[in-house]
Amino acid sequence: MPDDCLFCKIIKGDIPTDKLFEDDEVIAFRDIAPQAPVHFLVVPKKHISGPSAVAAEDEQLIGKLMRVGSKIAKQEGADDFRVVFNNGERAGQLVFHIHMHILGGRRLTGPLG
Ligand code: AMP
Repeated sequence: MPDDCLFCKIIKGDIPTDKLFEDDEVIAFRDIAPQAPVHFLVVPKKHISGPSAVAAEDEQLIGKLMRVGSKIAKQEGADDFRVVFNNGERAGQLVFHIHMHILGGRRLTGPLG
């Protein structure tokens, strides 16, 4: 776990967040700069730098992000939502600890919409 990882600090409780869910493997919290009425991040506690660093042993954990995120989205009133993972700086990844964005609460347009 790198000392300078922002999301590791959040997981350790060193930086406060608006937490939506936590168990022993996963944490979810609202994005600090929301791009939609519903915008939160689902993050595995294991430090994995990004999608391209996911190993075979992580497959179940990464699948869990989807299940946890869908449940929270529904609780937040967003039955329809978009899932985004950024991989690498040129794709817009700012935090190098894998995280799943969930965006909803408005009609989503853009490159894939
Ligand atoms: P990415 O660009 O995919 O790496 O996404 C990183 C996300 O983390 C951005 O949407 C940021 O707004 C969000 N973020 C950065 N710092 C915090 C924080 N302290 N609490 C919640 N979200 C954060």
